Amino acid sequence: MATEQKENAAKIIDGKAVSADVREKIKAETALLDKKPGLAVVIVGDDPASHVYVRNKKRGCEEVGFNSWVYELPEKTPEAELLALIDRLNVAEDVHGILVQLPLPKHINESAVTERIVPEKDVDAFHSVNAGKILKGEGTLLPCTPAGIMELLSYYNIPVRGRRCVVIGRSNIVGKPTALLLLAADGTVTVCHSKTTDLPAVTREADILVSAVGIAGFVTADMVKPGAVVIDVGMNRDKNDKLCGDVDFHAVSDIASYITPVPGGVGPMTISMLLQNTLTAAKNIFKTN
Ligand code: NAP
Repeated sequence: MATEQKENAAKIIDGKAVSADVREKIKAETALLDKKPGLAVVIVGDDPASHVYVRNKKRGCEEVGFNSWVYELPEKTPEAELLALIDRLNVAEDVHGILVQLPLPKHINESAVTERIVPEKDVDAFHSVNAGKILKGEGTLLPCTPAGIMELLSYYNIPVRGRRCVVIGRSNIVGKPTALLLLAADGTVTVCHSKTTDLPAVTREADILVSAVGIAGFVTADMVKPGAVVIDVGMNRDKNDKLCGDVDFHAVSDIASYITPVPGGVGPMTISMLLQNTLTAAKNIFKTN
């Protein structure tokens, strides 16, 4: 079993347990509200993986007591039609969070779509206004996967302040916002990417190493400092088509102090943080109405 605990091996960060704890707190807080938070999810096309994600998001909403609506649009939906739907959701009173499942079909401009959602309802936190707020350290809606990583660190009382943090990957969705959240938590942060020279020399300096690359077995034991905390964001398929992360889990767990497994680490946090954002968005909107 990939997640078996060996003697002297790294402690396994249990994303499922932390995620369940986050959802319990959201459910309890929701029960105290006069009105229900509501999330609208829009999906365009027939991508099976995207439909699974959307179903899980809807199920998550039901679990914590939110309203939710799923809009399933055909693959050939014109961009203007999708934008018009977003315009309606932007002003819908019961809707506090809007999420358009990515990727979108090629004929639709993703950036035009994410920028069309009003920032107050942008529960993926992809809008430039929310990205800018994160840059300024003022974000209240945080990108879900990076926020999930911070929640895992906090739950396990892993300090970030003053520690060397290395993030491999610089995507707008994972790598860059993760680096900014670690920086906001007073980490000393280095961001690596495909053009980084001598990557192992950089990663070996990390007290906290986050890998968001998307290549199975990418982070090997010789890239990890003994005692480091290793957070594996990768979601890949191994040669047997089994879900796996970026990190060589068996070898690295002998060296690290903490490690996230895949599955069961960062993955389960993402939807919980989406629910957290929806609650935050709803409370912000209730306050201003
Ligand atoms: P992405 O947009 O493809 O970004 C990958 C990053 O890795 C890029 O910045 C790229 O560098 C870098 N990279 C690629 N090859 C490298 C190399 N040889 N050395 C160093 N850096 C290298 O992917 P993403 O959207 O950030 O996602 C990353 C992984 O996380 C994927 O496996 C994805 O499925 C997973 N993911 C998981 C969750 C979750 O909930 N657990 C959520 C989102 C994503 P360049 O910028 O130079 O190209």
